[in-house]
Amino acid sequence: MHADLHLHTFFSDGTFSPEEVVRRAKLLGLRAISLTDHDTMEGCERAAVACAEAGIEFIPGSELTAEYNDHELHLLGYHLDAQHPRLRGEMAKFQQVRQDRIREMVARINQLGIPLAVDDVFALANCRSPGRPHVARALVEGEFCGSLDEAFERFLRKGKPAWVPKFKMSAVEAIQLVHDAGGMAVLAHPGINKSDEFIPALVEAGLDGIECFHTKHSTSLSQRYLEAAEKYNLLVTGGSDCHGLSKGKPIIGTVRVPYACVERLRAKMFERAANAGLLLAKLPTPAA
Ligand code: AMP
Ligand code: ZN
Ligand code: FE
Ligand code: FE
Repeated sequence: MHADLHLHTFFSDGTFSPEEVVRRAKLLGLRAISLTDHDTMEGCERAAVACAEAGIEFIPGSELTAEYNDHELHLLGYHLDAQHPRLRGEMAKFQQVRQDRIREMVARINQLGIPLAVDDVFALANCRSPGRPHVARALVEGEFCGSLDEAFERFLRKGKPAWVPKFKMSAVEAIQLVHDAGGMAVLAHPGINKSDEFIPALVEAGLDGIECFHTKHSTSLSQRYLEAAEKYNLLVTGGSDCHGLSKGKPIIGTVRVPYACVERLRAKMFERAANAGLLLAKLPTPAA
């Protein structure tokens, strides 16, 4: 019994619909999934409906971009209340920042003599929470670049000419926001963001868990974060970070997360909700 707790859809920079994600999860026999689109939860309602039909447990989630000491890190929120007013407001702000950033990146690309139309990028992205992958795809579709990798290498990677820094919330505030919205705050793929040195401060700020299993974590990196989870008494999570087809294949389900992680995540969420007297607001998603 396995889960995949890190999945993107076309509501941010993934390419699958929520229904397509669930259909694939069902084919793979996954017992639980979470959607973790960047700075939005728009796909969660549709995914919840599809999961209920498929007999899969669904955890509403999101992946927030945050920073600690000017260092970018990603924070996963699980069991978030998508209707929480402040969470909705903050996510709307992040989405506006993302759209403004697309305009700035395209302006820089135009200054380099490449006539990429910003409207083409927005048409292709077709979502409120666009990101660099959409600019890369538009560059490929417009035949300005031969591949997504080339688009990132020439223009979009940090330090390249069209890279624009993104406004980020402080990780401490992001953890607080996740808690206020009834969620559990989990540090995403620390092996990618090289955020080890910040873990103690994040724990101090209330971090609940750490994403030990991830496509880009080697076995030894996963082991290192499992040890950190043990040391700091953090929940363990994991997921594929599937964005759709990657080199022709979907990676959903390739990172096998034990279902026990989902149970521990739910138990801690219930414990906190009970302590805050919010238990009635937190009804579990029925599993198969
Ligand atoms: P953004 O949120 O706009 O900064 O874009 C970040 C997203 O771009 C990540 O979720 C990755 O999926 C993707 N990404 C980052 N670097 C690369 C790369 N070199 N090649 C392809 N995709 C990348
Ligand atoms: Zn992404
Ligand atoms: Fe991420
Ligand atoms: Fe992600």
